[in-house]
Amino acid sequence: MAPDDARHTVAAAHDPVRSEARPEPPALMEDAQRMALAIDGSGTGIWDRDVRAGKIYYSPGWKAILGYAPHELSDAIEESYTRVHPDDLEYVKATIQAHFDGKTDSYTVEHRIRCKDGNWKWISSRGKVVSRDADGRPLRMIGTTTDISAMRSLSDRLQQSVELITNLTNEVPGLVFQYRQWPEGRGHFSYASAGIRDMYEVTPEHVMADAECLHRLVHPDDQARYRASLAASAATLKPWHLEYRVLLPRQGLRWRQGAARPSRLPDGGTIWHGFITDVTERKRIEAELQEFATMDFLTQIPNRRYFMTCMDAELARMRRAASAPTAVLMCDLDHFKSINDNYGHAVGDAVLRHFAALLRAQVRESDIVGRVGGEEFAVVLIGTGTAQACRFARRIQLRTANTPFVDAGRRIPITVSIGLAAMYATDASADAALSRSDTALYRAKHNGRNRIECA
Ligand code: GH3
Ligand code: MG
Ligand code: MG
Repeated sequence: MAPDDARHTVAAAHDPVRSEARPEPPALMEDAQRMALAIDGSGTGIWDRDVRAGKIYYSPGWKAILGYAPHELSDAIEESYTRVHPDDLEYVKATIQAHFDGKTDSYTVEHRIRCKDGNWKWISSRGKVVSRDADGRPLRMIGTTTDISAMRSLSDRLQQSVELITNLTNEVPGLVFQYRQWPEGRGHFSYASAGIRDMYEVTPEHVMADAECLHRLVHPDDQARYRASLAASAATLKPWHLEYRVLLPRQGLRWRQGAARPSRLPDGGTIWHGFITDVTERKRIEAELQEFATMDFLTQIPNRRYFMTCMDAELARMRRAASAPTAVLMCDLDHFKSINDNYGHAVGDAVLRHFAALLRAQVRESDIVGRVGGEEFAVVLIGTGTAQACRFARRIQLRTANTPFVDAGRRIPITVSIGLAAMYATDASADAALSRSDTALYRAKHNGRNRIECA
């Protein structure tokens, strides 16, 4: 760039009301030249507009932005407007007029401008009226222009990326999120996909400022576990994984599964990126499978395998607590085969259900009852001595005899034989106690049925 141009521009900027009579002191001129060179070298152009004459001076750096040589381009202001993108022209003119009218302190615009090669560039122009006439009308305005095309396209690309991510995450079933937690513990969602409406029945805007309204939707029984898991993940920076229940205004109780990776923020806070999905259906199936594996389908009481697991757990508890003996009863319906033979298998099934219900109605919540064979049922009376267990067995025997099964008006009498044994903490296994009660049962059968024998 020509030193003359730089001097002209920067000197003008230093001394808005130019005085032709007063030459610049040499030191100041050198400073001004250096500064103008520095500005032009930075890719910023300078302009100086004579408002009344309708003329504008452009520095070589300004012309270079548009691809022009220093001697090219006219200085007519009207022509300058022909280079502004038609879609931006009105906004540019209105912004400059507002500044001329003194409504704004300075002039700042971003707009497209046509280059020498016909392509459009994005520029940022800033300027200020530096002298006005006695009536306040602008006389002169100076300013700078920067090429922001690269930044603009970067920002456009970023915007497109953000839109792409938002569109993609909004399609994902469930919630994709970025969650920030301040060092003192409160948190907010800096990003939440549209799935938050389904997962929590709140909007992304709801949780932008404060996420507490979302945390409160976690089921009261899972609150402590939920908060502790987040705190542990924040403290150790280990991934967060949790299955928990939420209580939602519309959907009610639902299961959620969360997974997120934490990282530390410079302020000591934590940021997680992750997702939350609906696992209610999976949980339901799991519960059903669990029940299927542990419950006897016909009678809806624990099956043999699950009964033995519970009995093992009870024996382990007795060993730890050195507690009082526990009674084990083995009940077997008498001549059940003849019920099947006389009334059919379906009636036999109904009788089994009938007896199971009768048994269940007599035990306490803490006792263990199970169907351990075809028409064999076992009961563990926790912390119950033999005498009390005998009274219980007697009650079962009487209820069974006094409550015949009624099928289509026919009364089908049933009786039960019961073998009773104690389970001790010293027993080698739960099986040992069960087989003692089975031996007693065998004796009850042998001694005539519909009776109780103790081991
Ligand atoms: P006891 O007095 O000696 O116990 O005679 P019982 O007939 O009850 O004993 P047994 O062991 O001879 O016969 C048991 C019968 O129970 C045989 C079997 O067909 C029947 N059974 C086993 N499971 C079921 C079932 O799920 N439904 C029906 N209806 N019958 C079953
Ligand atoms: Mg039997
Ligand atoms: Mg039997």
